[in-house]
Amino acid sequence: MTQPIRPVITVVGGGFSGTALVLQLRQQPALREAEIHLIEPREVPGPGLAYSARRPEYLLNVRPAALSLYPETPSHFADWLKTQPESAAGAPDFAPRTAYGRYLHQELSGALAPTAAAPRVLWHNSRALTAPLLPSGQRNVLLADGTELMSDYVVLALGNFPPPPPAGPDHRYLHHPGYHADPWATGNIRRIGPDDSVLLIGSGLTAVDVLLALHHDGHRAPVAVVARHGRWPSAHGPGAAPYPSFYPELAAETTVTGVLAIFKRHLRAAVAQGIGWQPVLDSLRPNLGQIWAAWPLAEQRRFLRHLAGLWAVTRHRSPPQNAEALARLTAAGLVQLRLGTVREIVPDGPLLRVRIGQKDGVGEWLTARHVVCCAGPLLDYGRIADPLVMSLRDKGFLAPDPLGLGMLTDPHGALRGADGRISTTLFTLGPSRRPAYFESTAVPELRQQAAELARELARRVTMK
Ligand SMILES: Cc1cc2nc3c(=O)[nH]c(=O)nc-3n(C[C@H](O)[C@H](O)[C@H](O)COP(=O)(O)OP(=O)(O)OC[C@H]3O[C@@H](n4cnc5c(N)ncnc54)[C@H](O)[C@@H]3O)c2cc1C
Repeated sequence: MTQPIRPVITVVGGGFSGTALVLQLRQQPALREAEIHLIEPREVPGPGLAYSARRPEYLLNVRPAALSLYPETPSHFADWLKTQPESAAGAPDFAPRTAYGRYLHQELSGALAPTAAAPRVLWHNSRALTAPLLPSGQRNVLLADGTELMSDYVVLALGNFPPPPPAGPDHRYLHHPGYHADPWATGNIRRIGPDDSVLLIGSGLTAVDVLLALHHDGHRAPVAVVARHGRWPSAHGPGAAPYPSFYPELAAETTVTGVLAIFKRHLRAAVAQGIGWQPVLDSLRPNLGQIWAAWPLAEQRRFLRHLAGLWAVTRHRSPPQNAEALARLTAAGLVQLRLGTVREIVPDGPLLRVRIGQKDGVGEWLTARHVVCCAGPLLDYGRIADPLVMSLRDKGFLAPDPLGLGMLTDPHGALRGADGRISTTLFTLGPSRRPAYFESTAVPELRQQAAELARELARRVTMK
């Protein structure tokens, strides 16, 4: 008699990506007998880093219609939101991130409840430390609580890591109580007194969040914001009619300059018709991965050097109410933008002295009681110091890409090792897949990856 196949799939990381994957795995008929383990050290699985903060002033930066967990049911989150207290006075255009965290946790909780019709899902409230390969071809995932999970497939859904240290080589400031290395750490901002001087490094979406949180907590002193280009994220406009895709014109372009020339032509045509730049940019979104992948490494590097900053503030937009609040704070003199790069941070008693380098060579020193690094997540897997990442990297199972954007993978998300070989046991999804797509950050891309990876694992189980 043939034995039933009981594959074991371990998903490391229970944020959006891990949650979406677990929910998709449960829908695969071929995985009905599977055992699925979800590893997440946070107290509540589902929200992950992005949606765990209990601060109602932190808003989602996308409208509800784009935020369903399930690509096959696009209105799932919007429908759920209508039933929630946040919609008492009408469904919000930009809901609090806490609401989205609740949504993710609720959907995941449904999957953790045992049913006969779907595979078993077990949540381990712990951290994965190593995952060595055994002679049997399985991986033994070792958790911080001592649990060992013999796994046929291990999926790394590790998400975003805190920004790297912004200034060197003297790193004493990293241990100073006024230096906030992780802008997302719980309770971080609440340690800042109302009259304390504050300096933020970076002017992206995280910096806007921190400014709004400080304002919400009654902070009264001006905040210095140091940014290389000095641009704030642009604001979402009212929902505009879509601009037709012109990707077919770009498909053969293998240079950044070529793509930019065609884009600018469409931009001029759109402006002549009274259409804003946003729909033109958004029309490319479904094909961004293909445009990026068509560029050789040197062109990708060129894009990162010259255009990634501009891209970040035009593609990732703020809710309009955030942009308005920021404008009010700036007009009141409470936000002071400084162009430049942080070169040095030196502890000076209870204060931190920060040296800003500017393009013309002239620099300045600023002093603040608190410095918050809002420089964007660390994605370079050559530098990430998580024990699991380090152990897989040291053994050559995980290889960072040459541009420092994430992990090398095949098109399914299977890890490509340092020797170039594709793993049959290790997979990843989420921001770690930026080398393949460049944009691998927001919900629409990640839920698609989850659905495709679940189908791929189901296919492999059937083939075994
Ligand atoms: C502050 C913030 C706000 C955002 N807002 C939006 C938004 O409004 N809309 C949008 O579309 N996108 C937003 N994003 C983008 C975000 O990347 C995705 O929406 C999504 O949340 C990423 O999910 P993830 O599961 O890949 O990563 P994370 O949310 O980072 O989750 C990864 C999880 O892995 C766990 N983990 C890490 N290492 C281990 C280990 N060794 N063992 C076990 N567990 C581990 C962590 O504890 C964490 O919970 C935001 C991102 C951030 C940082």
